[in-house]
Amino acid sequence: MLLPIDSLGIILTYKCSSRCRHCLYASGPEWTDFISREYLDSLLNGTKKIWKDYTPPPDKNILFHGIHFAGGEPFLNFPLLLYAVKKAKELGLYIGYVETNASWCINKEDVYEKFSLLKSSGLPKIFISCSPFHAEKIPLKRTLLAIETALEVFGPKNVIVYMEHFLGEIAKIDIENSIPLEKWIEIYGEKMAGYIFWEGYALIPGGRSGFYLGHLFKKYSAEVFREENCRFEILESQHAHFDLYGNYIPYFCGGLSLGKIEDLEEFYENFDLEKLPFVKILVEEGPYGLMKYAEKFGFKKSQEGYVGKCHLCVDVRRYINEIFPFSQELNPKNFYKYLI
Ligand code: SF4
Repeated sequence: MLLPIDSLGIILTYKCSSRCRHCLYASGPEWTDFISREYLDSLLNGTKKIWKDYTPPPDKNILFHGIHFAGGEPFLNFPLLLYAVKKAKELGLYIGYVETNASWCINKEDVYEKFSLLKSSGLPKIFISCSPFHAEKIPLKRTLLAIETALEVFGPKNVIVYMEHFLGEIAKIDIENSIPLEKWIEIYGEKMAGYIFWEGYALIPGGRSGFYLGHLFKKYSAEVFREENCRFEILESQHAHFDLYGNYIPYFCGGLSLGKIEDLEEFYENFDLEKLPFVKILVEEGPYGLMKYAEKFGFKKSQEGYVGKCHLCVDVRRYINEIFPFSQELNPKNFYKYLI
């Protein structure tokens, strides 16, 4: 049984001004689409129907409270983002926050105006990304401008800097300019830089991270993940992302879809794991089981190993996507196109 969500991210677009090497959703400038207002309305209405008496789960971190609007970079289409917040507020939905990478934060007046409009439309909190991955394309001064302005508009308790401890680390290197990851390696050496990236950010090894950053961290043979299934993440976590194409993406499993959402209530009622052969393997046997399946079609595991089970999963899934390009479980298709 698929437990209904108690927190949710809506991916308004996969388009992003950056192309972070750790991105779980393979976002980047190559993507073009944004969610339509009609479809957004339908997702929000559907969520309202299943969240009649919603209170945020008290045992969970605020990042897992209510709805957050995400990307890609949602500020690339500000009128749409503003509409999303207004609509969610109008429906009485619990809004968590909006995420931003702060790449657009160049002019104080512009930032102040956009944040103020969002706040007055019902947005309580803002989430500002800060990491070596973001700093590759976004000079720290933009992140700092976003934080300074957000503190004025939303107040100190309502600004989430993810992750705050990187502010000082990045400032030590360069505030004015973006910083390639190679610079961190030059300064700290491969081992320490790998530790800073992986442990310092608590990286989930899904999406791009294993492929672009895996060489900087300890890897394990695929066999190590033999006992790890994904029942919790897929069926029980109660956290999901809904994307602009209608994909129900469980937890943080970018590129994996439990189906297309038309009516959310019906989606849960009709959910049948038996109709999702790849997802079923992941739930019952994890990515190692999926690898064994893919080996029948010629998949060869990486001899260098994998940083974590999600790295193995994405590697196997991108192979399966080549063999079964029409699989609806492996969606959106551009995830696989733009992953690496
Ligand atoms: S291994 Fe795959 S299905 Fe399991 S949690 Fe990671 S990305 Fe999701």
